[in-house]
Amino acid sequence: MAEKCGHFIGQQGNIAIYCSKPKHEGYDKCFAHDEKLIAEREQARADLNRKAALCDQLVNIARGCHDYGGGYREPSESEIYHHGIQTVVNALEAALKDPNAFQVRMLESIGSRVHSEKA
Ligand SMILES: [Zn+2]
Repeated sequence: MAEKCGHFIGQQGNIAIYCSKPKHEGYDKCFAHDEKLIAEREQARADLNRKAALCDQLVNIARGCHDYGGGYREPSESEIYHHGIQTVVNALEAALKDPNAFQVRMLESIGSRVHSEKA
């Protein structure tokens, strides 16, 4: 039998009511009452929201690069530049839509390999 949470819930007349749910594994109280666990969940939620906002921001930055044009004035260079940036924008938009899509994962895998080879 798992140890009980024991969080004070309230008073009913002379009787104190304590939470009788089992402690969450590795924590002092149950899933609903452990302050450390609640803080960790809030932190994880905040991290997820921040990452989601960052993803939108990254796509907008790539779109901005496309509009900015990279300073290329020669039509042929400009065309190559725009084609390259459009590939990045498309890949980021695809990743936002479905982070587990095959091509998205393949690009990510190539990118992480290239990055770790440089480090
Ligand atoms: Zn509890």
